[in-house]
Amino acid sequence: MDKIRFTFWVTEECNLRCNYCYVSKQPIKMDRVVADQSIKFAKQQIEERDNAEIVVSFHGGEPTMNFEIIEYLTEYFTKQYGKRVSFQLTTNGVLEKEHIYDYFMKNHFMISVSLDGAKECNDLNRIKQQGESTYDHVMRTLAYFKKHEYDVRLRMTINASNVHLFSESFRFLFDQNVGPVAFAVDMLHDYDKKFWETLSMELEKTMDYLYEHAYTWYEYYIKALEQEYLSIKKICVGGKDSFHIDGKGCIYPCMLAVGYEEFCIGDIDTGICEEKMCEMNDINEKKNPACEKCAAKQICAGEYCKIINKRCSGDYLLPSINNCKMTKVFSELIRKSKKRLKLNGSCSD
Ligand code: SF4
Ligand code: SF4
Repeated sequence: MDKIRFTFWVTEECNLRCNYCYVSKQPIKMDRVVADQSIKFAKQQIEERDNAEIVVSFHGGEPTMNFEIIEYLTEYFTKQYGKRVSFQLTTNGVLEKEHIYDYFMKNHFMISVSLDGAKECNDLNRIKQQGESTYDHVMRTLAYFKKHEYDVRLRMTINASNVHLFSESFRFLFDQNVGPVAFAVDMLHDYDKKFWETLSMELEKTMDYLYEHAYTWYEYYIKALEQEYLSIKKICVGGKDSFHIDGKGCIYPCMLAVGYEEFCIGDIDTGICEEKMCEMNDINEKKNPACEKCAAKQICAGEYCKIINKRCSGDYLLPSINNCKMTKVFSELIRKSKKRLKLNGSCSD
């Protein structure tokens, strides 16, 4: 079934100051007026897609700092669209507000909790405003969900400061047994050769661990990584099937675009700006000259996501070297992991 996604940036404020954060942390909070106009905008878009599944996500800053608007929007979408809508949210898990967590569980939210590993690793980057540790808070939040037998996804961010701890951190999070562990490299920074070599080694160690101790998860991660890194990328759907709406009511095509005027494709009062969408479509359809001869161009985010290119290199058509490295590291990891599946006799292709 087709999907239409709305991501509401309910606040840009945050109680943390993570070292790799890309959010402005301006005191911009969505209010009822903006929420009501956003609803009108969403309703129009949904009417144009009769049967699409609706995914509503709440983003921040720390979204639970504007719970009032999360609740308001959730009530509206649930009343209006019933089972056709599902909800998602990423939290840093530090506020420990149990009544908010209860609300998420009651409304079947898919919850991601950000945590980079055990205390030593997590607190390298995920710190409070005065630099204090966040670890104990997040662990208590996880314990709360676990007590209610509610699965959450753990989300790790990898950068130069923690890459050497990746496999140890992954195992630590995996052993919490609260749900799948997701991870992503902070793409907005450059890395040296050593970083990519270390990442490659750490990923292999992680897959070795899963192969030995949790074979079903080994298969799960191969599939998930294939989906993420080896699938043929289609043209960007931002502004067509996916809308990010910030606290002021500006609309953007994706997460990395929010807050940058040059990527704004409309607002909730006047709708999508056709002229800007045409400009973005033209850019999205162009091929990167530097990727012309690359065998990986159909699967690589560097060819697909022009906004990441612009944020990283300053040029829509010039991918960051991170894309090439990432494509290489993950393709190789998947190839090796699948080979082991074949040897084990459980690979169907
Ligand atoms: S919790 Fe998220 S929004 Fe807050 S500082 Fe960390 S990365 Fe930024
Ligand atoms: S960014 Fe690199 S790996 Fe990706 S398509 Fe371009 S040249 Fe190939």
